[in-house]
Amino acid sequence: MKFETMFEQPLNRRGFLGALGSAAVLASAGLPRPARAAAARIVVVGGGFGGATAAKYIALWGGAGVSVTLVEPNARHVSCILSNLVLNDRVKLAGLGFGYDLLKQRYGIEVVADRAMAADAVAGKLDLASGIALDFDRLVIAPGIGFDPVPGLDTPEQKSLVPHAWVAGPQTQALRDQLNALRDGGTVVMSIPKAPYRCPPGPYERACVIADFLKRRKPRSKLVVLDANADIQAEPIMFHRAFATLYPGRLEYVPNAEVRRVSFEAGRKLAWVSDGIGGETSWAADVLNVIPRNTAARLAHDTGVVNLNGRWAGVDPLTYESTAVPRIHVIGDAQGTGMPKAGHIANSEAKICADAVVRMINGWPVDDAVRMQSVVANSACFSPITYDTASWLNAVFAYDPATRLMKRVDASFGEAPARSKENYEQMMKWAARLFDDTFA
Ligand SMILES: Cc1cc2nc3c(=O)[nH]c(=O)nc-3n(C[C@H](O)[C@H](O)[C@H](O)COP(=O)(O)OP(=O)(O)OC[C@H]3O[C@@H](n4cnc5c(N)ncnc54)[C@H](O)[C@@H]3O)c2cc1C
Repeated sequence: MKFETMFEQPLNRRGFLGALGSAAVLASAGLPRPARAAAARIVVVGGGFGGATAAKYIALWGGAGVSVTLVEPNARHVSCILSNLVLNDRVKLAGLGFGYDLLKQRYGIEVVADRAMAADAVAGKLDLASGIALDFDRLVIAPGIGFDPVPGLDTPEQKSLVPHAWVAGPQTQALRDQLNALRDGGTVVMSIPKAPYRCPPGPYERACVIADFLKRRKPRSKLVVLDANADIQAEPIMFHRAFATLYPGRLEYVPNAEVRRVSFEAGRKLAWVSDGIGGETSWAADVLNVIPRNTAARLAHDTGVVNLNGRWAGVDPLTYESTAVPRIHVIGDAQGTGMPKAGHIANSEAKICADAVVRMINGWPVDDAVRMQSVVANSACFSPITYDTASWLNAVFAYDPATRLMKRVDASFGEAPARSKENYEQMMKWAARLFDDTFA
């Protein structure tokens, strides 16, 4: 699938910003720039939804006053968004890959194919795996998530037998291939980690996609969903209704069931959960998809910015500057503002951060009354429910000067009243716009 071709007509920049949500006050909007001896060096780590958007908008709004370097080890970012649709062959994995050539050509961003290892914020140095170090005036990191270890999934072979597929790529393809190879009458078991995790509706959407696939292609098979949480974490009415009316007898939903370990016996995979009275019960699977508990990606831990429950990076939501390490900004899933961990909102956070970085290097304020009112982030998620229908969930978050936190604007919160084919079509258009705003 070629997403660029999915636009009915290109949106202008105002349209994009409105559709995708952003800091409304742009740094390039005519404030006087001080004379600088040299361009400020901004290094962005991670070329996903947060990092690629931040690099683009810092370069765009910073103009000649900045030089932007993006550090990303992979030549192409594989989007998690829409990746559940690889499992039922509605989307090819290759169609979810996005390179960085347009960011280089259009915005003059230098792209370094390397992995960031550690940062010295005082010296302004970022160490890369290749051994070189990059100098920075400000560092923005958007490395995404990491996972808690799951006992029993220790070796690379064990991990490949039980793919989480919660970072899109080879694991997504592996899970798709396992589902295709499943015998009719087999059992699929998937697990959902304790919140907060990447993409609140994502695991329930995956449950629907797999159940729908089984219904059509392996009708004697069933799916067990082991949820570490007490209930469905997003769109509960929609998903409970889908589980009960579309997939009765085929999808078994088990709340309060955290997978503690995995074992392999007689060709089957066992997921072990607490029985609530001090022991364990096991769920046997032919295909097992365990999504381990999420935390900020390793780089966030290694740079010392993780200061919330040992899992997430605390930031000032006006700038996304770390509350632990000055000069390092953290955006996307690794940060801990409490907003949902989603690609759409990572794109919004990146624009707020880009605006703040450009202001900071120019000595402009980031906390005047007008800007504080303008710090708004938008989150939208579309979820496939069947082969050709989807639902949606939308929320806007605004900066609250009283608490200095992002607060959900209750009037903005909405869910699709029902799944529909129209929603499915809108999902594809929305994703195409988000991909374009991030990578082009
Ligand atoms: C199945 C699924 C469905 C989803 N559906 C939706 C949806 O419908 N809507 C939505 O808004 N969100 C959705 N999401 C969530 C969305 O994908 C994430 O929230 C988003 O990708 C987070 O962006 P990020 O920039 O923080 O991290 P990522 O997009 O994961 O990007 C991180 C990047 O950092 C790079 N990196 C990591 N460490 C280093 C390092 N040390 N040095 C250099 N580079 C590094 C990685 O290679 C990667 O490219 C979904 C997620 C899943 C799993």
